[in-house]
Amino acid sequence: MSIERTFGIVKPDAVGKSAIGAVIALIEKSGLRIVALRHTQLSDAQAEGFYAVHKARPFFKDLVAFMTSGPCVLMALEGENAISRYRELMGATDSKKAVAGTIRAAYGTDIERNAVHGSDGPDSARIELGFFFTGCDLLGSA
Ligand code: ADP
Ligand code: MG
Repeated sequence: MSIERTFGIVKPDAVGKSAIGAVIALIEKSGLRIVALRHTQLSDAQAEGFYAVHKARPFFKDLVAFMTSGPCVLMALEGENAISRYRELMGATDSKKAVAGTIRAAYGTDIERNAVHGSDGPDSARIELGFFFTGCDLLGSA
């Protein structure tokens, strides 16, 4: 077991449903600790940079439009095996296929509007946390 940090977003669809509190409640109930939190609206450049790995995908333009369509909440989460535990709590990318009890089943709509983001591994967690947070934003880091 190892203490990890991962990066999460409450996406604009969930924020638009006034589900920030509900999503955070599920995260906290799962035992993950929130070590940084920011409510913001992404610029085109920020969304494009964050999702650069998907640049060649056919859904990239729509994804950037969705992610900049309203405010979102950026989070750093910490706990034992936080990366995989948070991926499990989020559920499948396609909200329609997400298992009951997951965040995406409860608050997502489809494969694009799926309520939350979570890093998919240690490398992406490090890159994504560094994209939006500096050390002094993270509790216990500086
Ligand atoms: P995840 O968020 O589960 O890690 P991906 O990294 O594959 O999923 O995709 C990033 C985001 O792009 C998804 O969360 C979703 O919002 C969007 N997306 C993924 N696949 C599609 C698709 N086929 N059509 C539209 N949007 C998609
Ligand atoms: Mg991903």
